[in-house]
Amino acid sequence: MISEACFSRRFLSRRRLLGGGLTAALLAGPPAHAVSGQPLILIDPGHGGRDPGATGGTGTLEKHVTLAAALALRTVLEGTAAYRVELTRDRDRFLWPEDRAEMAVARGAHLFLSLHADKTADPAIRGASVYTLSARASDPETEALAARENGGESGPDRPPEVSDILNSLAQRENRAISARAAGALVRGLETDVPLLFSPKRRANFIVLHAAGVPSVLLEMGFLSNPADEASLNDPTHRTRLARAVARAIDAWFTRGAGAG
Ligand SMILES: [Zn+2]
Repeated sequence: MISEACFSRRFLSRRRLLGGGLTAALLAGPPAHAVSGQPLILIDPGHGGRDPGATGGTGTLEKHVTLAAALALRTVLEGTAAYRVELTRDRDRFLWPEDRAEMAVARGAHLFLSLHADKTADPAIRGASVYTLSARASDPETEALAARENGGESGPDRPPEVSDILNSLAQRENRAISARAAGALVRGLETDVPLLFSPKRRANFIVLHAAGVPSVLLEMGFLSNPADEASLNDPTHRTRLARAVARAIDAWFTRGAGAG
């Protein structure tokens, strides 16, 4: 008899990511928090450690603003007393994208939100944008963004292919739920924060591969734009952003998370 403990970490990781053990519970009937206490929001500050992410014109590192924004969002969400909040990292340390997704499954998150800041060659382009998982990117810019965010290195547990997670029925449903969470985020942000044109986009982001966990990636702005870079370095702006995100999360859960 082969016990689960005998499997390699790689196999276990793939089973967790692709198996979707939480999917049925999440998709069946009432919102998960109705039966399991307060919903768990897992906030993922992008990059960290040896991976600085994008660099702004004045030297701002993406890994620092994502952590600062995540800490602000945790404070705001905890202030509502409606959610449990955890972070994939609360200090400057490196994590593989697939390990972040695995944390979302292992911790039973009800929503996984990965925070990033973008960079592009045109310094005039600015604004926040929201991304969900898709085999086919919504546009070439988003395909290139996903390639950057996925990183050039191969992680130790990187699945050799992702067709299962992109094609299974349960995962299609989870992607639809994630898309509705992304829509709520766009609606929550648009009154308070500049948005990129067509702010709701899709691509194959590895960090969004958590089976059965609604997962969204938020690019909070462009570090290549001076105004966005200044905003992301401003604690007042980060709190405004966090409040807008928290309102969006509230609206999404109030509608029953997965429901229409
Ligand atoms: Zn990033």
